[in-house]
Amino acid sequence: MNAISKPSNGAYRIVDHTYDVVVVGAGGAGLRATFGMGAAGLKTACITKVFPTRSHTVAAQGGVGAALGNMGEDDWRWHMYDTVKGSDWLGDQDAIEYMCREAIPAIIELEHYGVPFSRTEDGKIYQRPFGGHMKYYGKEPAMRACAAADRTGHAILHTLYQQSLKHNCEFFVEYFALDLIMDEEGACRGVIAWCLEDGSIHRFRAQTTVLATGGYGRAYFSCTSAHTCTGDGGGMVLRAGLPLQDNEFVQFHPTGIYGSGCLVTEGARGEGGYLTNSEGERFMERYAPTAKDLASRDVVSRAMSMEIREGRGVGPLKDHIHLHLEHLGADILHERLPGISETAKIFAGVDVTKEPIPMLPTVHYNMGGIPTNIHCEVLAATGKDQDKVVPGLMAVGEAACVSVHGANRLGTNSLLDLVVFGRAAAHRAAETIRPGATQAPLPPKAGEASLDRFDRVRNAKGSTSVSELRLNMQRTMQTHAAVFRTSELLKEGVEKMDKVAAGYSDIKIADRSLVWNSDLMEALELDNLIGNALTTVYGADARKESRGAHAQEDYPERDDQNWMKHTLARVDDKYAVSLDYRDVKMRTLTNEVQVFPPKPRVY
Ligand SMILES: Cc1cc2nc3c(=O)[nH]c(=O)nc-3n(C[C@H](O)[C@H](O)[C@H](O)COP(=O)(O)OP(=O)(O)OC[C@H]3O[C@@H](n4cnc5c(N)ncnc54)[C@H](O)[C@@H]3O)c2cc1C
Repeated sequence: MNAISKPSNGAYRIVDHTYDVVVVGAGGAGLRATFGMGAAGLKTACITKVFPTRSHTVAAQGGVGAALGNMGEDDWRWHMYDTVKGSDWLGDQDAIEYMCREAIPAIIELEHYGVPFSRTEDGKIYQRPFGGHMKYYGKEPAMRACAAADRTGHAILHTLYQQSLKHNCEFFVEYFALDLIMDEEGACRGVIAWCLEDGSIHRFRAQTTVLATGGYGRAYFSCTSAHTCTGDGGGMVLRAGLPLQDNEFVQFHPTGIYGSGCLVTEGARGEGGYLTNSEGERFMERYAPTAKDLASRDVVSRAMSMEIREGRGVGPLKDHIHLHLEHLGADILHERLPGISETAKIFAGVDVTKEPIPMLPTVHYNMGGIPTNIHCEVLAATGKDQDKVVPGLMAVGEAACVSVHGANRLGTNSLLDLVVFGRAAAHRAAETIRPGATQAPLPPKAGEASLDRFDRVRNAKGSTSVSELRLNMQRTMQTHAAVFRTSELLKEGVEKMDKVAAGYSDIKIADRSLVWNSDLMEALELDNLIGNALTTVYGADARKESRGAHAQEDYPERDDQNWMKHTLARVDDKYAVSLDYRDVKMRTLTNEVQVFPPKPRVY
């Protein structure tokens, strides 16, 4: 470490570091990239605002998809077909081919690194079926989700952290990355971060910087993701003048606990649970007469939103729905849904044997993010050159948009995205950079603008608290850019989000210290959330069709003629949004598979 202390902006102590690679984020994506870089002999630092094994990846339960064929016939081409179809033809077919093909070696590698997968009787990795994953090009369900009981994310994250330590990667834990350091040619030269523990500021110079900061579920009132999922990577990219791609596509899960957003598995309805509105009506019978409460996630989410919008929500604000389990009886609840009973008690104060659980469709995943190519290199996508990359910058995981999920992600494909593309980033870095290569000095004013912003926010003396403005944004997004979308709602959403963004200049910070200042950290996170939220609602307002998670009442059909394209949204320093578009990649990587041409949408 090359440590220089010097006064800047008066009171800030700056410490400089030089690495071959700096990875921001220690979730599944960040750790897979980190240890792969370390294993390739690159001097690698990983910066994370929470302890690595507390990243949101730890909460993933279901499994990670790969056509291993351990429990019946399977083929990565079938997996590819399902993923293209699931993406509602917005996914890039070269990237999807890469992910589904590389899934197999990437999962076998994980097994060898020590992930304790559940096993079949003959000792192979156990695989379970999952929604949307089929055999023979959509004919019958496939067993494709590799699982470590119901703790797959937990098992993967811990193994990857151990591997990173084994390969001598250095961790900067509880460091908050503020901004990218860009040079005049538009290349990324590293990142500037704030050490939460002692208040020092750190400049990391690196040949390559990797953003693996996760999603931005917290832009909404209700989400299943951790409080740390604030889209910081997206915020950094926007401030560097780069675009975010397809942020209007946000996946919702119907049953999140009202207020906390904690997930209640579909299994609760599978056991006989049902939803009611303020009139006590089992309204799903109206929306989906056959499947009723077990209709697909988007159908149930949309029905719940319609009931609330039409004034039939429950509670004092009529803003949520009830899930009933009490009729199942204490014995069954205890035996089959013990986890849910406990979660409902802790997060809703509800005894499920006596009363219903308050529910709200809840943000679960962000399909959009930082655009990259299949090597994880971030796209500047300027002018006519849609494939132009930003030298020195990569993005992986939920923060990125490769795009393998297109307009809608299939279950188990996110954990897969993390390991396949975390690995691809490491392969690319090993090919393109030399360990210990001399790096040019940073531009003389490197990080200064970021520090000015930091200082401005730290000393903010306005009249709105961060939590007030954040709640305003979260309610706006939940009402105007959620499951139920109309032209009018989206237009109002754009106007309201503009007001929220304008409100940022009037925030107040009560604590001016630099050590464990959560008020300041939340203000910086809010800035990042606002950038992501703006691109979401602007992108949605502009998209005059229904595709995947973007179902627009006034334009109910998918329009391949005009809208089979990715949205690119930029936000300037006054929070003004501009939109551009790039083509969906319909060519595949090899001639082993044919392009899958668009088919009508099936719900
Ligand atoms: C409840 C739940 C269940 C899920 N179940 C499944 C499943 O079964 N299968 C599946 O495929 N997917 C599942 N998903 C989705 C999947 O788990 C996530 O998309 C994925 O884990 C995201 O991983 P990540 O590495 O991109 O980010 P995260 O795991 O969110 O990690 C982000 C990292 O970035 C760091 N960071 C962020 N901002 C900063 C900053 N400013 N400075 C420094 N560090 C920063 C954080 O400290 C953290 O280490 C689930 C998601 C949830 C919420």
